[in-house]
Amino acid sequence: MKAVVIGGGISGLCCAYYLRRRDVDVTVVDRARVGARTASSWGNGGWIAPAQAGPLPEPGLTVYGLRALVRADSALYFRPSYLPRLTPWLLRFWTYCNERDYDRGTAALAALGQPCFELVDGMVADGIEFELWKLGMVCATEKEEDARKVLRSLEGMRRYGYDLPDDVLGEDEIHELEPSLNDRVKAGFHLAEQWNVKADTLVEGLATRLREMGVEFLEGAEVIEFDGTGTVVRSVRTGAGDVGGDQFVLAAGSWTTPLAARLGVKIPMEPGKGYSFLLAPKQMPRHGILFADIHAGVTPLGDRVRIGGTMEFSGYDLAIDERRISNLFDLARGYIDLEKPDYEEPWAGLRPMTVDGLPILDWAQPYRNAYLATGYSMLGMTVSAPAGEAMAEMIVTGARPGVFEPFRVDRFPRAIARRPGG
Ligand SMILES: Cc1cc2nc3c(=O)[nH]c(=O)nc-3n(C[C@H](O)[C@H](O)[C@H](O)COP(=O)(O)OP(=O)(O)OC[C@H]3O[C@@H](n4cnc5c(N)ncnc54)[C@H](O)[C@@H]3O)c2cc1C
Repeated sequence: MKAVVIGGGISGLCCAYYLRRRDVDVTVVDRARVGARTASSWGNGGWIAPAQAGPLPEPGLTVYGLRALVRADSALYFRPSYLPRLTPWLLRFWTYCNERDYDRGTAALAALGQPCFELVDGMVADGIEFELWKLGMVCATEKEEDARKVLRSLEGMRRYGYDLPDDVLGEDEIHELEPSLNDRVKAGFHLAEQWNVKADTLVEGLATRLREMGVEFLEGAEVIEFDGTGTVVRSVRTGAGDVGGDQFVLAAGSWTTPLAARLGVKIPMEPGKGYSFLLAPKQMPRHGILFADIHAGVTPLGDRVRIGGTMEFSGYDLAIDERRISNLFDLARGYIDLEKPDYEEPWAGLRPMTVDGLPILDWAQPYRNAYLATGYSMLGMTVSAPAGEAMAEMIVTGARPGVFEPFRVDRFPRAIARRPGG
């Protein structure tokens, strides 16, 4: 069996890895160089955080979202000129902002994320080299009630075996636990079940291992078309020639939407732009830190921390908007004391955001030999390994693993209407 994986971000590489482990011949095709900065998998926060895996459309987000429409400094931002194109997606998104869908989505993500630590440990044992820290996470807020609110939002995870604290910590306790926080922080809590990686090193490490395992890479080759007969794909057409195969995995991150459209498969997914940069802190945090007040995450990476955040809907534009990044920097420096006065290595990435905040892991129906492995939203580093492993099982056995049931592509109704139960 020969599989062609389109996309060399974390999603595609994990699919390729577990397929190869099942003795499938694999070619990874990427329009850029694998490990390029243009992939969302390059400069993200690198959190492997299954206990925080709630979908983005939360009950109550509707009002917040409406307010955000007009505030360019908001963590969630819709570019006005992109709104006409975004509106159908946005309307569908709002139909998922309810308790029932949120609980269902949380349960589905909790089940998918379950084996993530074991699989990452398995990669280490297999000799894949990347930077990994097992530090846990601290959520830090100015007000105790806000820390409590975040903890409450994770509560559902307890049911799925994730370990959560019973209550929040006060000012003294949180500073004792995480001395890098400055005086602004008055409360928080600790989650032990969180690791972090330096995202680009995981991508590079996986790609190196895949080459050793005999996986072929075709880089600088944008897939522009599929060729085949009926509902069977035979090859992909790229700028660097055609690539034939038996199975085809569409794992092109945010760009899977236009790619799947070439097969006539419509997926309601938009790019959600986020920013990150590096900082030299006066004191290196002992944990990953979630600054819930400003919707930003801090990842310790040796002598620097990476700060990432914001969710901007402005299309497939990777340009760095300095106003948004310096706004994030100004907010972050309110919580962490700096060694250097400025930030380094500003970066923007596009998260693949489905309307319900859940991945799409399925056949690219009606095609029986084309698959979708996308929509990982804010959780690509967390769910790619489990999703890749189960995707390899699905391709090799021809049967959908139970854990993929909530991620079927046909869950999306065609009409933009309030859904039953919504
Ligand atoms: C600021 C920020 C912070 C984040 N923090 C975290 C975090 O802490 N933890 C976490 O789990 N997730 C986090 N994420 C989300 C995570 O980055 C994504 O979910 C994940 O990287 C998506 O991976 P992917 O492989 O699907 O897409 P990508 O990494 O974008 O890869 C897609 C690949 O497909 C290629 N491609 C596109 N079109 C074509 C084509 N037509 N032909 C061939 N190749 C093509 C691209 O070149 C690219 O290499 C964060 C994201 C951002 C932006």
